[in-house]
Amino acid sequence: MNQARCTICSNAANNLTKDAELSIYECSLCSHVFTVIPAARQKKYNHDYFSKEHENWFKNPNTKLFRFIADQVNAHFGHKNIALLDVGCGNGDFLKFFANYRKKTALYGVDIARLFEDANISFMHGDFNTMELKQNFDVVTSLMAIEHMENPVLFTKNIFSALGREGIAVVATINSNGLIYRLADLLKALGIMGPYDRLYDHAHLQHYTNASLKKLLENCGFEILLQRNHNFPLAALDVPKSNAVLEAVYRAGVAAVFTLTAVFGGGMMQTIICRKK
Ligand SMILES: [Zn+2]
Repeated sequence: MNQARCTICSNAANNLTKDAELSIYECSLCSHVFTVIPAARQKKYNHDYFSKEHENWFKNPNTKLFRFIADQVNAHFGHKNIALLDVGCGNGDFLKFFANYRKKTALYGVDIARLFEDANISFMHGDFNTMELKQNFDVVTSLMAIEHMENPVLFTKNIFSALGREGIAVVATINSNGLIYRLADLLKALGIMGPYDRLYDHAHLQHYTNASLKKLLENCGFEILLQRNHNFPLAALDVPKSNAVLEAVYRAGVAAVFTLTAVFGGGMMQTIICRKK
């Protein structure tokens, strides 16, 4: 199949790959890039995914981002009692941070993997996309989950439905405008596939530009309040462990890119804050 429809805007998308198993498409209109993999080959989000493949990521939570989001929620709701749902909450790090940061917040988390228990957090085990929610929320956060969705429009509409009137959503994901993507493209052109294959792996199905993430949220009824690019803590980087030299090269390369993008912009992640129109 060489023709597919963009997962954001439904326009025609071109196949960038010749791989029969994993096809990467780019939308001819909005430049969104997405990966199509047969269901049987898709990533399984089991315990190993969190504890082994993404060991560093989950051991080094992005407290800088957590604090930024908590400050934004505070600025929006002041001292009001609110309910907050974190979709794809993983091991609950963001919710645990929030519990300490802001009182007067009823905290809920949903994830397909059950990875934690916490007396202050109501955890719902299952698939958010098919889950019947019993209430609305003032804030729905989703940090590094939307890039894993096969159907981002369905996911975003479900976030919209989960919010009450004047609710706000916070969505953090990869920024495919970032310098690291450009460098991976450059290395791929030189025949070095490692970084490209890691960015476009079997888990990351949607690669958002600043424009495609904004467009997705606007198309689903949101008004964008703020959008910013940034990085994650370098210690959270998971690199190939099979080869110590390769690991050192990856780590040094990403460190250099993070230093550059901290000064000139083009970070590897992006976060959007938006509200129901
Ligand atoms: Zn598109």
